[in-house]
Amino acid sequence: MMTTVVGDAVDRARLAVALLDRLEQVTSEHEDQLIRLAELRHARSAHAADTAESSGNATDIDNEEKVARSLEHRRDQIIKALARLRDGTYGTCAACRQPIAPERLLASPAATHCVMCQSAAERRMR
Ligand SMILES: [Zn+2]
Repeated sequence: MMTTVVGDAVDRARLAVALLDRLEQVTSEHEDQLIRLAELRHARSAHAADTAESSGNATDIDNEEKVARSLEHRRDQIIKALARLRDGTYGTCAACRQPIAPERLLASPAATHCVMCQSAAERRMR
């Protein structure tokens, strides 16, 4: 089987669809998360007098805020990927300038490095 390059119009269209799908999913997860946070904050202020319970709630809110931030980060990465897809720089490894395999991009649309450079970077980080 021949490996197709992302420059291929069909692949670009498939990737755009995959990215938009992912964006929609992450955006709605983020919205759900913000609602959950608002409910937690509300519950916490309603029970502010019960000190035993409110200390537990503070940790919950911290954790939920972390989840919200990481969803926000993922959403930003997808938006940046869509911008790169538009200007034609999407799907090129930021380190070695080789095309990133479309299969990898479909699996993780925000990837900026090919598998080889990514695993090399991960090895350096350890
Ligand atoms: Zn690379």
